[in-house]
Amino acid sequence: MKKTGLLASLMAALCISMAPAAQSQELYWASSGTFGPFNIQGLIPTFPEAKQITIPVSMWILKHPKGLVAFDTGNNVAVSDGLDNCKKYWAAGLCDFLHPNQTRNDVIDMQLKKLGYKTEDVKVLVTSHTHLDHAGNMGMFPKAIHVVQKKELYQGWWPEKFQGRAPNGTFVMADIAAAREFNYLELDGEYDLFGDGSVKLFPTPGHTIGHQSMKVKLPKMGTVILTQDAVWMQENLDGYVAGLNFSVQAYSESVNRIKMMRDLEGAQILMSHDANQFAKMGDRWHK
Ligand SMILES: [Zn+2]
Repeated sequence: MKKTGLLASLMAALCISMAPAAQSQELYWASSGTFGPFNIQGLIPTFPEAKQITIPVSMWILKHPKGLVAFDTGNNVAVSDGLDNCKKYWAAGLCDFLHPNQTRNDVIDMQLKKLGYKTEDVKVLVTSHTHLDHAGNMGMFPKAIHVVQKKELYQGWWPEKFQGRAPNGTFVMADIAAAREFNYLELDGEYDLFGDGSVKLFPTPGHTIGHQSMKVKLPKMGTVILTQDAVWMQENLDGYVAGLNFSVQAYSESVNRIKMMRDLEGAQILMSHDANQFAKMGDRWHK
């Protein structure tokens, strides 16, 4: 009897020590160069005064025990190193307005290289939405599992007319075509990426029809919400509604949901195009 008890407690101790260490994840915040300077009212028409802004183009690299994840791939590599190059790939008007300032070294493959990885090391590529500054280099990841909301794939191929259907408009046909034959996990709603609750995707429609955001539980920092274009910048959190929406109502509901997640879970909101936040926290790992 006593022996069995001892064995049981030994087994219990073993089980505890063999349990996986609580999701030791690390998150890197990179930028595919910058956009601007331009007037904030060009993006946020509800903002009351003109103000010049220069903003990051956020991409995320997440180390998880089950594999490397990238979230968005920035502007296409062809847009690097000057407006002349930009105008060969994007519509000239978009280059003139957005003023991308992206060097070859800012592109996702070089960001990965800087961190000691190759594009082939990325097991999962999550794309928030199929706009030019988020889905630009999906084609660099033929071996990854691509995780996108199914509605967003439809919209990428056939945007609403008011969102523009030019092949080199805000949904760049060549970006999406380069990745058409890859492996997709096509979502219709929320998804727990590794089944351990540490990386969750959730729909945040409005900016586009199938936009999604990511929630990550970091061991030290706690829960962070990577909004991507569900919330561009602080001004949107302050209540100034963004322009360029598929649906303003859906956009507003998504912003409210993110704020409530923040308050209920004690999560931190990390935004896609917020210059101040990126200056404080960008270009480095977070634990
Ligand atoms: Zn966008």
